[in-house]
Amino acid sequence: AKDQGRNNFQFYTSNLTDQAFAHLSMQTQIRQAIDNNEFIPYFQPQIDSIQQKIIGLEVLARWQTKDGKIIAPIEFIQIAEKTGLIIPLDRQVMLKAIHHFLRWRKQGLIDGKLSLNLAVKQLEQDDFFEFVNTLLCEVDCNPEWLEFEITESDIMTKLDEMTRKMSQLRQLGIKIAIDDFGTGYSSLAYLKKLPVSKLKIDQSFIRDLPQDEDDAVITKTIISMADNLGLKVIAEGVETMEQQAFLQANGCEQIQGYLYSKPLNADDIEIFLRQFPDQ
Ligand code: C2E
Ligand code: CA
Ligand code: CA
Ligand code: CA
Repeated sequence: AKDQGRNNFQFYTSNLTDQAFAHLSMQTQIRQAIDNNEFIPYFQPQIDSIQQKIIGLEVLARWQTKDGKIIAPIEFIQIAEKTGLIIPLDRQVMLKAIHHFLRWRKQGLIDGKLSLNLAVKQLEQDDFFEFVNTLLCEVDCNPEWLEFEITESDIMTKLDEMTRKMSQLRQLGIKIAIDDFGTGYSSLAYLKKLPVSKLKIDQSFIRDLPQDEDDAVITKTIISMADNLGLKVIAEGVETMEQQAFLQANGCEQIQGYLYSKPLNADDIEIFLRQFPDQ
């Protein structure tokens, strides 16, 4: 038994070293990829399902490697957030996304918003507002065209600080949506005080609609909660006509998901913008 214990210990340490090594190597790769300008924005349309109108585009980061491979956020966002690399990474993606967006606006291809995902790490930066302000001036972007998505759990773990920061963004004229809503335990009392204008129902509640009764109740509750608080509401991860019909019938017209489009690179979303709604 003693021997076995020793073996377990050895296995454990070498496993830990492997993990630490993988982590470090990924960190180095992300850093290099930032230097090589390899992070790019993908865009997913947000649709008013009744008017059949594009009301916005959500920006989702992708890592395009030198050999053309596209890597999804699940592979890099966590390590980027842990190491602080999320800050230059997101700035790279944001800048590119806003440039595309402003071009499409000028061409009359879109009059909705650009939604950007924001990590707490970024909001915590002392120079974040300076960055946003400078950005808005430099690129001549009306702040009303922008929306930041912040996850409910991020807000709730640092409620006071996040409320303050969100108010500052609001003062700049930028709207805020609570992302992954329903997963972060916020109470009605807090919700009323937060300087937000939209709730985004988490896709985990949408997936099994309309069959799953619990999800149906939760979704309906979030929609009426938003309604009572004077907030807009959007559902993410909508893949089927049935899900859309359920949401519409219960008062949620704003839809995002594969039903309309996967996230697309700039060239492909431009084609989508030109063709919608006549496909
Ligand atoms: P999120 O903000 O909740 O984004 C929604 C995720 O669901 C995206 O995954 C999107 O591609 C995916 N999705 C959209 N429609 C559907 C659908 O109909 N069905 C299913 N099954 N999935 C759908 P993605 O692009 O892999 O991003 C994952 C997460 O990474 C995001 O979750 C967000 O938290 C984070 N992330 C992505 N881009 C950025 C970024 O630029 N900055 C920051 N800070 N975080 C980002
Ligand atoms: Ca989001
Ligand atoms: Ca989500
Ligand atoms: Ca998420």
